[in-house]
Amino acid sequence: MADPTYDSNNIFAKILRGEIPSHRVYEDDAIVAFMDVMPQGPGHTLVVPKAQSRNLLDADPAVFGPLFAVVQKVALAVKKAFGADGVTILQFNEPASGQTVYHLHVHVIPRFQGIPLKPHSGQMEKPEVLTENADKIRTELGS
Ligand code: 5GP
Repeated sequence: MADPTYDSNNIFAKILRGEIPSHRVYEDDAIVAFMDVMPQGPGHTLVVPKAQSRNLLDADPAVFGPLFAVVQKVALAVKKAFGADGVTILQFNEPASGQTVYHLHVHVIPRFQGIPLKPHSGQMEKPEVLTENADKIRTELGS
């Protein structure tokens, strides 16, 4: 059951409701994917279930199948779109782990041999770069 402290006005809940803009690359009945505004590398994408939970710890396990099916789709798409050598998948639970937005989400980050990740929640990317990167991913996803 969703944690009673879940705040339905968190930034991702607002993005899911369309109250705040995002660079969406994928959407189905249960899942949305959009660009991270402070990417740890080019093509850093967030995969977010529509169902409300604070993080993995209070999520309905039924969400994990659909969520990770999309994580895999997006991982394959970003790998191809950016010619990456690999893909890092990250997911944080509670402040001690590094979580900063309290709606379950999975980070999908293209990786390049020998290039370290930029800091988590570091620098804002230019909107035009996010638009361009989202277009590349959408092309690979056919969405
Ligand atoms: P967490 O630390 O909770 O795992 O990750 C939250 C992520 O959301 C961070 O990587 C951060 O850059 C990103 N982020 C924070 N605010 C926004 C926003 O308003 N829009 C988008 N698209 N990403 C955000």
